Amino acid sequence: MKKIDVSSYQNIVVLTGAGISVASGLRPFRGEGGIWNDADVERYGHVSVLEREPHGVWKLFGGLRQTLQTAQPNAAHLALAALERSLKPEQSFLLITQNIDGLHQRAGSQNIVDLHGTMERSKCSDDNCSSQAFVDSRPHLEHLPLCAVCGAPLRPDIVLFGEQLPDEAMYRSKKALRDVDLFLAIGTSGTVSPASSFVRSAEYVGARTVLINLEPMLHPNPSFQEEILGRAEEILPRLFGLDV
Ligand SMILES: [Zn+2]
Repeated sequence: MKKIDVSSYQNIVVLTGAGISVASGLRPFRGEGGIWNDADVERYGHVSVLEREPHGVWKLFGGLRQTLQTAQPNAAHLALAALERSLKPEQSFLLITQNIDGLHQRAGSQNIVDLHGTMERSKCSDDNCSSQAFVDSRPHLEHLPLCAVCGAPLRPDIVLFGEQLPDEAMYRSKKALRDVDLFLAIGTSGTVSPASSFVRSAEYVGARTVLINLEPMLHPNPSFQEEILGRAEEILPRLFGLDV
């Protein structure tokens, strides 16, 4: 495998998905070997649960929050944090993650977009409430937590099924993709959104585009110029020539 000399790029954008956290003991949420069955996800993972049965969202995600507290960043998370630290001040770096596990933050990455939010925070379920999302380690399995400002139920600060991606996260992602010259997608399928649309944007502005994933693309996406197959935690430290 040829190393990527990151010093020769100005604007680096990395997109990560569930595959990067598998070595931290976190299985994908859905699909084969996933941690939840589809019936639970449909019942409690959809935004409509907040009105129908607000404690249901904690029944699904409260246990996950406990699991995440014992999970540790792996060599792939650490390599991305080390990569960011190694850059010169005139280089830019943005890490966009679809993961809600908070492991990039704990590995030390700084400039992160949480495209789907993060389980590390809770927030009020009323969008019009003046309260802010806050760091919260409690699983709330026993009692429905309520907002200290308005009394509405609290919810995890994540994007539920049926909800839009946050405007600010999309804005920052698209802005970074406007002048990216190295785009890496890691541990995510290259063929479904957002990876598919992000890589198209990156290719359009002339970036080098690389997919790093365990499985080859089922329907190859021609916007990826390179595909590296294998475990992210083994590939990334070697790819960037970093000791982590
Ligand atoms: Zn509130």
